[in-house]
Amino acid sequence: MYHGSLMLKIYTSSVFHRHDTGPGHPERASRLDAAIEGVTRAGVREQLIVDPDLHPETSRIIAKVHSAQYERDLDDATRAGFRYFHSVDNPISSASFSAARAAVGISLAAAAEAYGSGDARRAFVIARPPGHHAERAQAMGFCFFNTIACVAEFLREQPGIERVFIYDFDVHHGNGTQHLFEERGDVYYASIHRYPFYPGTGAREEIGTGAGRGFTKNVPLEAGEGDAAFLRATEDEIVRAIDEFRPNAILLSAGFDAHRRDPLGGMRVTEGAYGELTRRIVESAERWCGGRLFSLLEGGYDLEGLAASVAEHVNVLSAGSTRTAPPAD
Ligand SMILES: [Zn+2]
Repeated sequence: MYHGSLMLKIYTSSVFHRHDTGPGHPERASRLDAAIEGVTRAGVREQLIVDPDLHPETSRIIAKVHSAQYERDLDDATRAGFRYFHSVDNPISSASFSAARAAVGISLAAAAEAYGSGDARRAFVIARPPGHHAERAQAMGFCFFNTIACVAEFLREQPGIERVFIYDFDVHHGNGTQHLFEERGDVYYASIHRYPFYPGTGAREEIGTGAGRGFTKNVPLEAGEGDAAFLRATEDEIVRAIDEFRPNAILLSAGFDAHRRDPLGGMRVTEGAYGELTRRIVESAERWCGGRLFSLLEGGYDLEGLAASVAEHVNVLSAGSTRTAPPAD
């Protein structure tokens, strides 16, 4: 069943604005405004939900992914006001714990809707701080809680969801997400990223270990690559991996910092390629997941590049694939 514009819901929260990283930090609150500007440009602003309730299982799921000591340390450090947490990459302020927790709680609520019985089968969460660098007990690269890993753990508990596929197209490798799932065969982590580059992980040889061997895929890209390499990797490697894995759920770690304007990424991807990438994954979701798809904002540090890329991303998420004719109701 297709419900037109009801298919996509977009979520954000005012608490994300209050995570203050200090002057000059690229991971700043104005990124949220840029992403919402992208939603407006795509003409789907009325599908934006601000300040939804956190999912009631938020604390329990965070405790599955992160150590209790780590969570306490972050909470305590946040209460002390502005300071660095674990490294100078990770400035925090009084609202940072609440913001990181809300990123998880809103993402769980959004995933519950998309993979439950609601009308909206697609979700895009505009959150910060981002999450894919966060390890079980280590903040890294502007990330505190690994939100996409929390969503994967949550969905694995839902009936009928036995295999979850995470596609991370942020320009940086999601070391945290890979490490959390690399020994498991039920959550597949796939990433395209610039390599070698921060955080240093993500070589093609990293394919998972033990029962997880073959369920991690890393597609390194050279500095300065653009749309052709980006889309070829998605088509030839990621979409193929999805078809072999046959997931019940697909999650996107949607970082837009490979955009040609991005000050950190050093790549030449255009916003149009983000739309094309999204279309490929929407097609995969239609093949394997009843069209359901969850997407979470990770990086993206040029405000115009982020707005333009988010516009393309949500435009395709809301419209569905243009190449696959929807079945008649
Ligand atoms: Zn990034």
